[in-house]
Amino acid sequence: MLEIVQIPVLQDNFIYLARAPSGAVAVVDPAVAEPVLAEADKRGWKITHILNTHHHGDHVGGNLEIKAATGCTIVGATHDHGRIPGVDVEISGGDVYDFGGEKAEVFFVPGHTSGHIAFWFKDSAALFCGDTIFSIGCGRVLEGTPAQMWDSLVRLRALPAETRIYCAHEYTASNIRFAVTVDPRNAALRRREAEVTDLRAHGKWTVPSTIGEERAANPFFRADAPELAAAVGMAGRAPVDVFAEVRERKNNF
Ligand code: ZN
Ligand code: FE
Repeated sequence: MLEIVQIPVLQDNFIYLARAPSGAVAVVDPAVAEPVLAEADKRGWKITHILNTHHHGDHVGGNLEIKAATGCTIVGATHDHGRIPGVDVEISGGDVYDFGGEKAEVFFVPGHTSGHIAFWFKDSAALFCGDTIFSIGCGRVLEGTPAQMWDSLVRLRALPAETRIYCAHEYTASNIRFAVTVDPRNAALRRREAEVTDLRAHGKWTVPSTIGEERAANPFFRADAPELAAAVGMAGRAPVDVFAEVRERKNNF
């Protein structure tokens, strides 16, 4: 089992430290270096790896400084060749990456970017998905197509319900403000709304959630739910069209 530490940085980013029983320590998506090095130091952990989900600056900004300080191995997507600073190992969807004896199944999840990957540590019930899924949201479709993003979400949605989603941003409260406009009668969403309001009022994070919770409450996981299609005036339309419409409404919200 991985031991996972969540480090909030910048406005709303999360960086994760994941320690394997072997002592290997991975940093997932280091936006910056300093707080990560400080946290590892405080715990007496030696960083051995960086796992990058995609090339955006708020996910790779700390790569080179952490590598210079620790000599760690940087892992990124083959599809992001040339745009992951300091990358040592390139991996693709379907690969199983052995991180210090812990197996990560690699998902190729294009949509937010063309090279985006996610790491699923099945034995730890943990998914590191970068900017693909957020709690009650999903990443903007910047480089891919809505069809690619929907396909990526459908594959991640199929993971076991108890899988914890370690996404890269705390966007949940604003995601919910939008979600209730497209899925107003969803009781699971209303429960999540109350829970998140309470968590945020106490200065707590809403991440990680789980695949099971998101299946019930995340409108971007529900583009093939007839009641959501009906609520946005698209009853009977293809799920990918409903997804594209909901994503577009969120962009303009
Ligand atoms: Zn991004
Ligand atoms: Fe990001």
